[in-house]
Order: sequence, then C-alpha cells, then structure tokens
Amino acid sequence: AAKDLGRSRFCYFTPAMQEAAEIRLRLTNDLRHALTDNQIWVAYQPIVDLATGEIKKAEALVRWQHPTRGLVSPAEFIPIAEDSGLIAEIGSWVFHQVANQVAKWRVNHHSMFQISINKSPAQFHNNSDKMADWFEHLNRLGLPGGCIAVEITEGLLLDNSSVVSDKLLAFKDAGMQTSLDDFGTGYSSLSYLKKYHIDFLKIDQAFVSNLVANSTDMALCEAIIAMAHVLGMKVIAEGVETVEQRDLLIKAGCDYGQGYLFSKPVTAEEFEKLFPVEKTESVASS
Ligand code: C2E
Ligand code: MG
Ligand code: MG
Ligand code: MG
Repeated sequence: AAKDLGRSRFCYFTPAMQEAAEIRLRLTNDLRHALTDNQIWVAYQPIVDLATGEIKKAEALVRWQHPTRGLVSPAEFIPIAEDSGLIAEIGSWVFHQVANQVAKWRVNHHSMFQISINKSPAQFHNNSDKMADWFEHLNRLGLPGGCIAVEITEGLLLDNSSVVSDKLLAFKDAGMQTSLDDFGTGYSSLSYLKKYHIDFLKIDQAFVSNLVANSTDMALCEAIIAMAHVLGMKVIAEGVETVEQRDLLIKAGCDYGQGYLFSKPVTAEEFEKLFPVEKTESVASS
C-alpha cells in the first residue's frame, strides 16, 4: 500500500478524477440544450425590511431541472457554465426573464419589486455579454433601471481592468443598483466599496449562521453594518434562519434580511402569493 501511495504521487488522473471529469463533460453537453428545452427557470427569494417584516425586494436564483438528474444546484452548474462560455447565454436569459416578470407584476399586481440578479466575474470579461441589449430591453418594457440590482462578488472589485469598472459604471448610468454578495468571505476592502459606489452590502450567511449575543461574529456584524452605513450603503443579511438571528441583526442595525426564516427561493407564482395586495412599491427608494 505504501508503494501504491508513493506511486500515486506521479499519477495525475485518478479514477475519481476521471469520473468527475466525465460527469462534468456530460453536464456541459446537457447544459447546451437546457435553455432551449425549457429546463432552466428562475426562483425568487424575498428580501425583507427587518424593521417592518415587509417584502421589499427579491433575489433571482437560477434553477436547472435536469431530465434525469433532477434539480442541479447552481453551485454545481454555474462553474460549468463559466468554463464552457455558456454563462453569457444563461446570464442574458435570466436577465430577460426577470425583466419580463417585473413588467408582468407591475401590470397585473400594481407592484414593482427590485429584483437582484447574480453576475459572476466571468460574465464581466465575456464580450458577448452585451449591456446595451439589456438596457434596451428595459426601455422596451418601460421599466426604470432601478428595478434591477446586480449582485457581484468581492474578487471582481480587485480586478483593476477597465472592463469591470466600465460595466459597473454602465449599470449605474442605466439607474441599476449594485450589491456586493457574500461579503466577508473574500478580500474585503472598504476602499473598493467606495470607489465603485456599491449600493448594498450582503453579509455572507457564514457570519449570520454563527450569530449569538456577545460573540465575535456579532461584533463583526455590528462593525460591518456601521461601516457600510458610513459609506452610504444599505446592508442585507443572507441566510437568516432563526428568530434569534433576525433579532440580533435588528439590534446590530441591519436593514434587510433574506433567508429560510422568511421564505425559501420559490417560483414566480408562489412569490406572487407573498405580495402585499394593491401596493405600489417605489423601486427608487432603497
Ligand atoms: P448567492 O448569490 O450567495 O445566493 C444565496 C444562496 O443561499 C442561494 O443558494 C440560496 O438558496 C441560499 N439561501 C438563502 N437563504 C438561505 C438560508 O436561510 N439558509 C441556507 N443554508 N441557504 C440559504 P442557491 O440558489 O443554491 O445559489 C447558489 C449560488 O449560485 C448563489 O449564491 C450564486 O452565487 C449562484 N447563482 C445563482 N443564480 C445565479 C445566476 O443567475 N447567475 C450567476 N452567475 N450565479 C448564480
Ligand atoms: Mg447572490
Ligand atoms: Mg450570497
Ligand atoms: Mg453565495
């Protein structure tokens, strides 16, 4: 066995790696057809004003209903989409889907929610991702840019290339807002937040799930929230699962909460049932 171990140091491709690579290759091929075969759909997770408990926004989370594998997690297929270049097509599809849905809700329910969509770093560098088409689509629907917020991650802000800052500026010019997702897990630097005029900071669920009174995480949350407010940002806590966590977040001065305590990500139809009836929400006011 020792000899095997020694030899395995020179083996670049183990059977487990081979199998993982095969699954990945198959999923890549399947993903090419997923959009046209209507296997991709968008789930919506409410974002709640912590002070009032009212739903103010939602996050769009992409879902893949695979014909034989069932629901494949975006944590599994988004990296595949990024590597294969399919992310531009999926990202664009999600954006159009969300915009159409917002327009429909405005007409049918007289409600307009700001929906945030996730954009991975790969989508910023891909030139086939045409921002102008997005803005044109919103115009066609008669929607203000403020009905969309774009969620980005910290790593992106470290990238000093003009591609990134140009696109972030283009969002701002179109009236869209920006959120920094998973804050605290990456290379957090407050100077970036200021430089790019980020509107919302989303505290990663890793901090929220460990939240207990008088803990280090509580102190961290309080500090992050206070600094975000100084910089003019609103704070959204991710992964709020318990009443205790919610109450501590309120105590820490957090503005919004998102998590299973309020609702899991649901279909558009299920989300409609959570709407406050006959109430117009101004998307400009965050
Ligand atoms: P994220 O943007 O940080 O999204 C939050 C994740 O936390 C979602 O996982 C959501 O279902 C989950 N979540 C929400 N509340 C709770 C809670 O109370 N407890 C726990 N344990 N989890 C909670 P999901 O939907 O599996 O998405 C995973 C990641 O995939 C997202 O993380 C995002 O980075 C990526 N993703 C999802 N949709 C898209 C998309 O359309 N485009 C891109 N580029 N990435 C996406
Ligand atoms: Mg997100
Ligand atoms: Mg997140
Ligand atoms: Mg995440």
